[in-house]
Amino acid sequence: MGGVLERRPPGAGYARVAPMTDVQKELRDEVAERITARGLLDAYGIRYRPGGGRNELSAKECPSRSDHSSPSFRFNEKKKLWRCWSCNTSGDVFAFVAALEGLDCTRDFAQVLARAAEIAGVTPATLPPAERAQRITALRQGRAAREQAQRELAEREDAMAIRRATAYWNSLSVRHPLGERYLEGRGIVDVADTRGRVRFDRTDAPGHDHWSSNGAPALALHDLRGRGISGVVRRRLPEVVARDPRGVKAPSLTGCRSSGTMAYALDEIETERDVIVAEGIVDTITALVAWPQAVVLGANGTGPLPRLIEEIAKRVVRAGCRMFLVPHADERRQGEIAMAAGIERAIHAGLRLGYDVIIVDFGTEKDLNDAWCTGWRFL
Ligand SMILES: [Zn+2]
Repeated sequence: MGGVLERRPPGAGYARVAPMTDVQKELRDEVAERITARGLLDAYGIRYRPGGGRNELSAKECPSRSDHSSPSFRFNEKKKLWRCWSCNTSGDVFAFVAALEGLDCTRDFAQVLARAAEIAGVTPATLPPAERAQRITALRQGRAAREQAQRELAEREDAMAIRRATAYWNSLSVRHPLGERYLEGRGIVDVADTRGRVRFDRTDAPGHDHWSSNGAPALALHDLRGRGISGVVRRRLPEVVARDPRGVKAPSLTGCRSSGTMAYALDEIETERDVIVAEGIVDTITALVAWPQAVVLGANGTGPLPRLIEEIAKRVVRAGCRMFLVPHADERRQGEIAMAAGIERAIHAGLRLGYDVIIVDFGTEKDLNDAWCTGWRFL
């Protein structure tokens, strides 16, 4: 071994950033002092109005999207910090300029600073106003084209997921001794009562995931926009989990959607039929048996639950029926928190708690399946 350590060249993606000079630092501080949120928004033609929190301006447009349905972009005039609640992006005035100019705030900081200095009026404009306006138009058009391309890609992916998940779902069995034995252990004795809403995985299904197994109970996931079955969730059988332990007990079909409504679709909500909202595959299957006449909609995990409850609530209001929420306790209280957020949205949509949105009470049982196994019945 020699005494000299070899220096390895920086890896790909590493950008060498020149340290800021004192002059640059002074300029940066002056720009930060003089630039305003309104000046920035005006410079990029973003329409805004006072709103959101204290000292905040709000807009439906943010550095990365021009088409938010609500004013999720906020710019705090006092702190000179912004955030888009939809995109989950945030930053200071320089990050704002960088994002809109398509620059990297660290690597291209000299350019970002120069542009910010112009907007702040610290340095004279380098481009004549007409040329500047043209440049901003081009920037906005570029962003609109990117958004359009993203939307088209998402549509193509959705169409593919729906084709695949539908074919898969249609190839599953409605009876299976292994799967039925598992469900019997969870107190669900006659799966035929679910009229094909519960099916069983089979290894010869098209696009089968090798780590699922014959007999794994499965539910279809319905697209929220009513375009069909866009995913399938399977409950892995305990003996399969024992052989091949993975974090996920109820994986969704690879290459397809993992959220949506399990069991029933949103457009099946109708007048005179109660709607049951459950979380997790086992509780959703149990709900199908516990409320054989109802429209049962399951959330795949607590994450999508608030949004799902909101979508369901809007349709429940229109149909004039009732919504029952099935609580699902867990140690981290994620289920409770998600359901509370969902209830808030349901009330906002026009439902009244205790009247047309009802929380099912299991006493001390942690979820519907536990309650069902100990003899709880909905009366
Ligand atoms: Zn945004």
